[in-house]
Amino acid sequence: MISKAMQVALNDQIQAELASAYLYLSISAWCETSNLQGHAAWMRKQATEEVQHAMKIFGYINDQNGKVTLQAIDQPPPTFKSLLDVWQKTLANEQGVTARIHKLCDKAAKASDHATLEMLQWFVKEQVEEEKSVGTVLEQIKMIGAGGPALFFVDRHLGKEASAKE
Ligand code: MG
Repeated sequence: MISKAMQVALNDQIQAELASAYLYLSISAWCETSNLQGHAAWMRKQATEEVQHAMKIFGYINDQNGKVTLQAIDQPPPTFKSLLDVWQKTLANEQGVTARIHKLCDKAAKASDHATLEMLQWFVKEQVEEEKSVGTVLEQIKMIGAGGPALFFVDRHLGKEASAKE
């Protein structure tokens, strides 16, 4: 059984994960129209993973005899200024999610909610990976600058990475 306060906090996290999925789907759609099919595939895969994150918490709340209450999700930006803008927004989003996960851990620790704290450890590790992979692409995009042949290769690499994860 989880406390009502923890139930509210975990429901908020479901919303944050689904909002991430929504943002990445919007980025994917924009990339499709910008002829960046590799980016589009990578972001689509990322969106699927965010839904899986939400479902992990969804399952956990149910396992703890809590109640999942889904919340409204804001419309994500429909267009982006550039690929730099895309990767900066993606990294900022992941950093925001990391901060939320850490706050949840603090909350669980303070309440001696060991089960929730244990469940959250997977997310702590996952966020290290997320920030690393997104940060790496952001640095590569900065290196490339305006685009050109290098962008073609980064895009192709992201497409391969997305299909390797299928
Ligand atoms: Mg996530």
